[in-house]
Amino acid sequence: MITQGNRLDFVHDELARIESLEQTRSLKRLESVNSRTVVFEGKALVNFSSNDYLGLSQDERVQNAAKAAIDRYHASSASSRLVCGNVRLLEQLEEELAEFKGRESALVFSSGYMANVGLLSTLVGEGDLIYSDELNHASIIDGCRLSKARTRVFRHNDLNHLASLLQQTPVTGRILIVSDSVFSMDGDLADIAGLVELSRKYDALLMLDEAHATGILGRAGRGAIEHFEDLGKLTKNLGCVDLEMGTLSKALGSFGGFVACGRSMRDFLINKCRPFIFSTALPPASVGAARASLAIVRQESAVRERLWENTRLLKEQLQECGFETGGSQTPIVPVCFGSEARALDVSAKLMKRGFFVPAIRPPTVPKGTSRLRLTVSAAHSEGEIRALVQALVEVDSVKKTAQSWDLKN
Ligand code: PMP
Repeated sequence: MITQGNRLDFVHDELARIESLEQTRSLKRLESVNSRTVVFEGKALVNFSSNDYLGLSQDERVQNAAKAAIDRYHASSASSRLVCGNVRLLEQLEEELAEFKGRESALVFSSGYMANVGLLSTLVGEGDLIYSDELNHASIIDGCRLSKARTRVFRHNDLNHLASLLQQTPVTGRILIVSDSVFSMDGDLADIAGLVELSRKYDALLMLDEAHATGILGRAGRGAIEHFEDLGKLTKNLGCVDLEMGTLSKALGSFGGFVACGRSMRDFLINKCRPFIFSTALPPASVGAARASLAIVRQESAVRERLWENTRLLKEQLQECGFETGGSQTPIVPVCFGSEARALDVSAKLMKRGFFVPAIRPPTVPKGTSRLRLTVSAAHSEGEIRALVQALVEVDSVKKTAQSWDLKN
């Protein structure tokens, strides 16, 4: 006889627990979305939550390139790169990414998440050591777990703490230091020069996640590494970052991940990296779109300048109205409310006033730092940015809580 067991009880129990913490996540059905607006329940809202910083996903040239790629190479790559998925289009993108990043080579992955998980689990393993910033992206955390290397977490951007952990290391296996270059929920920058120095001193591999920097930071939009080179803080004789990972899904307005690295490292990954080997190659449309976006980033600085003007305006306006923006140095601007309930409340009130900014809560951010993560794009108008800040001012008790914002707490 078949019995009605309680094997699914854990699902209900866990959902109830999440609900009691006000951390329930649910999907909002959007009728349309772009880097400037979304339509939700029939109402157009100004979108301050997209990572499409340059608005390139809507650029006609990018969309046409995606269509042309489908016409020539179809809707799917139909197999992994090592079987029959390696078309010229993919290699062209990799050559262009490598040139853009000033590296010998690049390798594309199915997503940025897959790139991080794949790189970390291939570069280090049992007996090795990873040093990871405490605010690194979830895909880095998951890559550390999958690698089976011992992971030591250093306090956010605290290189004295990292140095003291490195000093304690009994050197047996490989050492790898990994950090976001732009932290995705705080918009602040890693001290890349300091990380390079420590990695050379301790003969550690250095891997940076340039997901939110590629296309945005640096004179030519190459990323945070270029930004520090522009400032003279990072020079070739100091040594360099061994692997820079990036994504095609943010400023490049497409989809997919990549790593820029040396040629032999690329060969090593092609032979050893399981998420690369065992997953279908990126769809041609995404590759075509990414190539067109990259060309735009390389040829046109105007859209990047507009993004930075909008970023400056948003921060200026917030600060003038008494909001703290933490250590943000990028178009990612956090306004912290502490509790989940408050962040949800402010987000709901902003929605009523015509703005779409979902609340970000644990486990995406540390407990007690629930926030609105505002992201501004080149497509926003000055009026929209001013109106958002005005709406924040009008929303009950926002200022009071925001003033206690402390990035490190
Ligand atoms: N790294 C960081 C810092 C990110 O913010 C993200 C995406 N949120 C990723 C990696 C993963 O990239 P993708 O969305 O392309 O999987």
